[in-house]
Amino acid sequence: MLDPRIPLGPLINKWSACQQQLKLSSPADRRKFKIVVIGAGLSGAAFSANLAGLGYTVKTYCLQDSARRSQAASAKCGIISAQSYSSDVNDGVQEFFGDTIKAGDYRSREANVYRLTEISESIIDLCVAQGVPFERDDHGCLLRQHPVASQTNGNLFAGDDTGRHILTGAYSSLMKEVKKGNAELFTRHEMMDLVVKEGVVKGVVLRDLISGKIFSQRADAVILASGGYANIFYDSTNAGTNNASAVFRSHKRGAFFAHPCFIQMHPTCVAQYAVGGLWVDYNLMSNIPGLFVIGEANFADHGANRLGSNSILQCLADGNFIAPLTVADYLARCTPGDEVIINLPVFKEAEAHATQNINRLLHINGKRHVDDFHRQLGDLLWEKCGLIRGGEKLREALEIIPQIREEFWGNVKLAENDNHLNQSLEKAGRLADFMEFAELIVFDAINRAESCGCHVREESQNESQEGLRNDEKYSYVAAWEFNGMGKDPSLHKEPLLYENI
Ligand SMILES: Cc1cc2nc3c(=O)[nH]c(=O)nc-3n(C[C@H](O)[C@H](O)[C@H](O)COP(=O)(O)OP(=O)(O)OC[C@H]3O[C@@H](n4cnc5c(N)ncnc54)[C@H](O)[C@@H]3O)c2cc1C
Repeated sequence: MLDPRIPLGPLINKWSACQQQLKLSSPADRRKFKIVVIGAGLSGAAFSANLAGLGYTVKTYCLQDSARRSQAASAKCGIISAQSYSSDVNDGVQEFFGDTIKAGDYRSREANVYRLTEISESIIDLCVAQGVPFERDDHGCLLRQHPVASQTNGNLFAGDDTGRHILTGAYSSLMKEVKKGNAELFTRHEMMDLVVKEGVVKGVVLRDLISGKIFSQRADAVILASGGYANIFYDSTNAGTNNASAVFRSHKRGAFFAHPCFIQMHPTCVAQYAVGGLWVDYNLMSNIPGLFVIGEANFADHGANRLGSNSILQCLADGNFIAPLTVADYLARCTPGDEVIINLPVFKEAEAHATQNINRLLHINGKRHVDDFHRQLGDLLWEKCGLIRGGEKLREALEIIPQIREEFWGNVKLAENDNHLNQSLEKAGRLADFMEFAELIVFDAINRAESCGCHVREESQNESQEGLRNDEKYSYVAAWEFNGMGKDPSLHKEPLLYENI
């Protein structure tokens, strides 16, 4: 049974009780710990700045040429919060908590959601302090608009550029630490693999996307802040670099994947947000000690669907207020690793595996372009595992995906066959992961024979064709364990209890 490590006691005291138990290393010891952060979007930049500010050695990697180009830059609607200046007594933490649980269709953890709504007030203060120009009314108070699905709490916005302003705040904090020499930011680098020895994280394998060099980085803790995977559907509102590679490669090294089939759909095209992600406990640590997952990359707060404008909030909560404390606590209970461990066979094998995959892709020289395969996979997922799903169609998808994958590995054509800066090669590598990950999404959808979140299950509808949720059978987090390609994953269940709503 999975242990989410939720503190005992009343809901409203859980986070404060947890914080009282958290340890912190002495300032003199902190520099000895090396922390690797994958992703410099909202959650990754915020986390890196905080941990570097506490005195730890932080190395942060991202795909783009600037961290300012990550997903949050396109977030336009705003950020929701329990903070209120109005006299509406219904605007508050309890109401926001209720809205979020209901939007997630009762498939999220009460304790995590309550913590998110509790922290939301501090997050708005932080954003204001960082210079986010939220709209204000004639009295100078923050202006709130009410999104669909939220009965009470309104969201705050800065024109139609909210995400970009908030990202600039997190980015500026990170760059301040970089300038002070406390953090290092490496752009145009891709995580190729996670290195785990005796069940504990030891580091990562990376590729410099400009030179093509593959190398290892030792770490006492690895934090995945690599964003969501909704781009798997091809027609998506996500940035082109949005991918599943970092989380899926970690999954193949032992990290459990929770709720992969839950994806938020947008009215304009396939979806906007991956609600599923790597399984984490209350401290945002995966089932692999030392591997933490924050922001959209984890599954933790949204259940089966996301309340509008709650995503930026979660990224900032994870990156500023939760993970810096819980990662510091984990480190305070460890001994710093030694640099020489990157010579161990486990690192060399992971480097060789990454090199082999790159060389394989470079030498296929087939006839079909990477985007062509991506569109085929996306169309298939939309048709068989999109908004409307049925057992038969899902089982058909499980038959077809391996066929597409097989053709991909024999017939993909890259725009150029160069092992230096080569975006076609990068895309092919990420699509190769999507091709495997797609099976896990379908597997999870087959298992969940209920209508839930924004997905309608054909076998689970009433006479008026309204979706029926099945709490008796499916009120649990479905966390999947990888057993090897071609083998069925194992299902681990974390029961979900609702005692406060
Ligand atoms: C069109 C659109 C509008 C949205 N509007 C809103 C809104 O109004 N309100 C709201 O709350 N949310 C909104 N969202 C969702 C929100 O923007 C995202 O959920 C949020 O920005 C995710 O932040 P993140 O830090 O988790 O990841 P991201 O910002 O996606 O950052 C991921 C980082 O990981 C790096 N990375 C990924 N893979 C690798 C790898 N293998 N190796 C190295 N680095 C890697 C990337 O380079 C990047 O730096 C919107 C999303 C979209 C698509």
